[in-house]
Amino acid sequence: MKLPFDLPPMMMKGKKMEKQGEEIDHEFTDAIVCPWCGCEDHDSWEYHFDGDDQAEVDCRKCREKFTAERHDRVYYTTMKIETKS
Ligand SMILES: [Zn+2]
Repeated sequence: MKLPFDLPPMMMKGKKMEKQGEEIDHEFTDAIVCPWCGCEDHDSWEYHFDGDDQAEVDCRKCREKFTAERHDRVYYTTMKIETKS
């Protein structure tokens, strides 16, 4: 006896795996995120960034190498200039 609804779950699985690889959020993040495994390194301040604001990092979890680029956020503060007239 055959079931009329034997859907193969293999296709679903393959799609999910492919998507997972692209879902790692490693750009403009608050902490250094490994582009290989996606783990976050919250000790970002420990790394030595060179003149180009880049550091070579060995992932503590998967041991893969990658470069981290530090972005400086620019904030503006304005203050009133009191003029005596
Ligand atoms: Zn990693």
